[in-house]
Amino acid sequence: MVSKELLEILACPSCKGDLEYDKVNDKLTCRNRHCPECGMPVDDAGQCSSSECGKVTMNPVALSYRVEDDIPIMLIYEAEKLSLS
Ligand SMILES: [Zn+2]
Ligand SMILES: [Zn+2]
Repeated sequence: MVSKELLEILACPSCKGDLEYDKVNDKLTCRNRHCPECGMPVDDAGQCSSSECGKVTMNPVALSYRVEDDIPIMLIYEAEKLSLS
C-alpha cells in the first residue's frame, strides 16, 4: 500500500511523469511513452531520448513499478514494460 502523500511526490524516474496507483496489484504505472529497450522516454517520432540506445520504436511502452513492503521500487530497469495499445 502506498500512501497518498507518497504518491503525490513520486514521479516516473524515466520521464518524471505522473504515476497511476493500482491498489489491487500494488503497482505504480506511468502511461507515457517509453523505449521498450531501455525504458527512457521516446519522442513523438518514436526516437529514444537515450543517446546510448538511440532506438526508434513504433511500440513505446508504459512502465509499471512494483511495491515491496510499502516501498515502491522506482528503478527503470526493474520496471515491468506494458503495451500502451
Ligand atoms: Zn514515465
Ligand atoms: Zn532506448
